[in-house]
Amino acid sequence: MTVVEKRSVTAWQELDLEHYLHPFTDHKDLGDKKSRIITRADGVYIYDAEGNKILDGMSGLWCVNIGYGRKEIVKAAERQLSELPYYNSFFQCANPPSIELSEKLGELTQPQFNRVFYTGSGSESIDTMLKMVWRYWDLMGQPERKTIIARENAYHGSTVAGASLGGMAPMHKQGGIMPYIEHIQQPYWFESDRQLSNEEFGLQAARALEQKIEKIGAGNVAGFVGEPIQGAGGVIIPPDSYWPEIQRICDDYGILLITDEVICGFGRLGEWFGADYYGVKPDLMTFAKAVTSGYLPLGGVMVSDRVGDVLIERGGEFAHGYTYSGHPASCAVAIENLRIMQDEKLIERTRTEIGPYMQAQWANLAEHPLVGETRMIGLMGALELVENKETLERFNKDIGVGTICRDILINNGLVMRAVGDTIVTAPPLSMERVHVDEQVEKAWKCLDLTQKIVG
Ligand SMILES: *Cc1c(COP(=O)(O)O)cnc(C)c1O
Repeated sequence: MTVVEKRSVTAWQELDLEHYLHPFTDHKDLGDKKSRIITRADGVYIYDAEGNKILDGMSGLWCVNIGYGRKEIVKAAERQLSELPYYNSFFQCANPPSIELSEKLGELTQPQFNRVFYTGSGSESIDTMLKMVWRYWDLMGQPERKTIIARENAYHGSTVAGASLGGMAPMHKQGGIMPYIEHIQQPYWFESDRQLSNEEFGLQAARALEQKIEKIGAGNVAGFVGEPIQGAGGVIIPPDSYWPEIQRICDDYGILLITDEVICGFGRLGEWFGADYYGVKPDLMTFAKAVTSGYLPLGGVMVSDRVGDVLIERGGEFAHGYTYSGHPASCAVAIENLRIMQDEKLIERTRTEIGPYMQAQWANLAEHPLVGETRMIGLMGALELVENKETLERFNKDIGVGTICRDILINNGLVMRAVGDTIVTAPPLSMERVHVDEQVEKAWKCLDLTQKIVG
């Protein structure tokens, strides 16, 4: 029995419009278009209520890294739900899956990480990180170190703290920016005037951090947070010079370095974490999404000994936590997900096999007349759509070429996302070569169809 049989497609759509408020959605606009009702998924494909089979070039929302339909995960959840579906970790309690997962995460992360604080999502992880950073500097006797520096066009979730640390103007407009949060430029070479070389531009973008620290006063700065590669902002791959310079600046000023690994973590770049890929040594790492491959909600903050020792030795109670911190079923699913990643060498194959294969195919899309740049690391990439391939001039924003292309893509059986006129992809790490071929062929065809409309 499938869920579709319960109601007709149009019945689902009508009820959806009447009752269900979706995230980041203009509901007036949705009323004209109706929702696509996704009913099942298997491997790297999702299926909608009308029976369309769609290659999921986004791993859901950057999270289903092992692919859909893994029965081992279902069994792990079922086992845990039968044995202990829920218990909290407050009041001196814990449960075996949350403890085991903590040990496992300590092994998979850099040596400075031996402790984890669990949450239910990426946004909650960001809030936790912020409060932990403030707590750390309080305990260090430097309570005036409060400001966290983040980047324009960053995405750190949608709670008040997440939206504030993020650099998305529409979110700031609707929620404001909390105190003690500052933004610097993003390392987005393609979007710059491209007068500097990629490397020089990376150094300049990193040095914006130093300038901001000097401006605020070094004694007032608590830390810097950044996604190793900005995901929702458009898969912005920083120049190689960027992260080493950020590390140098954080070290020179003694501020905490935080990488938001909610997308880059758990193999996306062919390493366990984005910090590993870029060779930086964070003091805190926020994670969520692929820790469970999205099968159940879970997030957390990896806490280095630098921060953790202070919290514990000088700390007393850290007045923070969630009902679902260390949820046993989510943790059991995460353990099984990590086992699959390890046993099937998904990260290694992303680095050495399927990643390089896809990167090569993806780069061929640069030949298309609409494409101004292609980029990809691991299995996370982007295409820049341009009106003029020579000058790299963009289309008029009102045309919405990115959205046009995205709609054509999904109607032709491929999900990729549009961020303005940047098309982004992050397919499951379980992709086979045939899937890569299918994705890139469909992408080319849809670029052709897009060109027919806008060209
Ligand atoms: C998705 C995302 C978040 C927010 O995670 P939620 O689970 O949606 O709250 C935070 N940071 C990054 C980098 C993300 O991509």
